Amino acid sequence: MFSLHEKTLYVRDLDLWVDSMKPRARCYVSHGHADHARPHDVVVTSVANAMVCAHRFGRRAPARQTAFPELAAAERRDVVWETHAFNEPWREGDHELTLFSAGHVLGSSQLLIESDRGRHVYTGDFKLEPSYTAEMPEVKRCDSVLMECTYGKPQYVFPPRAEIAGQMVSWARAALEDGAVPIFFAYSLGKAQEAMAILGSGGIPLATHGAVASMSRVYEDAGVALPPYERYDAETFDGSRALVWPPSGKALPKAVRGKTVRTAALTGWVLGRTGFGGRTDIGFPLSDHADYPSLLRYVELAQPKKVWLNHGGRDFVHRLRKLGVDAEYLEANQQLALF
Ligand SMILES: [Zn+2]
Repeated sequence: MFSLHEKTLYVRDLDLWVDSMKPRARCYVSHGHADHARPHDVVVTSVANAMVCAHRFGRRAPARQTAFPELAAAERRDVVWETHAFNEPWREGDHELTLFSAGHVLGSSQLLIESDRGRHVYTGDFKLEPSYTAEMPEVKRCDSVLMECTYGKPQYVFPPRAEIAGQMVSWARAALEDGAVPIFFAYSLGKAQEAMAILGSGGIPLATHGAVASMSRVYEDAGVALPPYERYDAETFDGSRALVWPPSGKALPKAVRGKTVRTAALTGWVLGRTGFGGRTDIGFPLSDHADYPSLLRYVELAQPKKVWLNHGGRDFVHRLRKLGVDAEYLEANQQLALF
């Protein structure tokens, strides 16, 4: 069913690429993070992720001003969106395809391909815990699954989300009461909106980086309710709000110079160390991936005969095998008939 071509997943029977980093004629895109989403001639995806990706790809707009129109056209790539609602199957030849929620970020989906050769699922990035801003995740019974295992080690057990949320709110409130500016570093797609929903529901006033604000507009357009927030403006920011800032915006915002700041990382990797390599004052294990127990629970619920792993540590394969699960790591640089 699935095979690896040029280090990229491909479904030969359907001539369909999966989360390819190279432009393809037709490609399924599971969600909008930069390590999965690229423009293709035809993008097969969920309705909400098409909104996210259209926004993201639109940021390539400066290429339109180039003096070389043919280059601009190639860069711009007029994408044809083939969108599907969750749990509304469609037929392609002898196969039936269905997208269903991965609960990772807004619009993130898993892909189920059914044929007389069985039910095969590609999870993409997923988590099982309900979140504040992404759709409720789902697990379907299948014969084989190709899943991520980012946190495939037993030390990665995340506390309940509500507990993390409570700690984030208390920490931000304490900082503001002490006259310090709390800054939460969070990816502008997914993590930032979770942080905003959590902090806003705890009554923390918010300002966000422009990239976070514009992605948050996409969430709101897709029907996700977010608390009030201000787009950060160096001229008017007075330090009375918590800031939600992308980790890539490395430099601290200009307006906090001379002010006391307290910084927080939001990532599952903080378990066992502090923030992004110890560069923040504190870390909260707010993740948009499944933790170790959730990875095991996924396999338990899906009951596949075969598990393929990608996007994560290899020792999860051995842990699954010890539990009697037929598991294998998907090797790059090799053509492999997966199912
Ligand atoms: Zn992702």
